[in-house]
Amino acid sequence: MPDNIIAECLNLPGVKFADAQIQDGIAEIKIARRSELGFACSNCGQRTYFTWDSNQVRIRDLSVFDKKKVYLILYKYRIRCPSCGVRVEKRDLLM
Ligand SMILES: [Zn+2]
Repeated sequence: MPDNIIAECLNLPGVKFADAQIQDGIAEIKIARRSELGFACSNCGQRTYFTWDSNQVRIRDLSVFDKKKVYLILYKYRIRCPSCGVRVEKRDLLM
């Protein structure tokens, strides 16, 4: 299976499939960011590769498997922007 098939199904071009499990009717799809893209600052949009910290978030997704509860598991980052300092990364797709 190509790495990007989940990203294509979910229409999330900046991520790749990491892992998945289905248990008790709940599907969890772990996705990872494509590190070569870096991070965009939520304030100015400048791209950087420097992260400050991250935390895991679980987001309900309805776009794919409508017969099961589907959650996307991913990391949300704070970055160190060269112009703005520590900021939340810009994530158009989820938050
Ligand atoms: Zn910035």
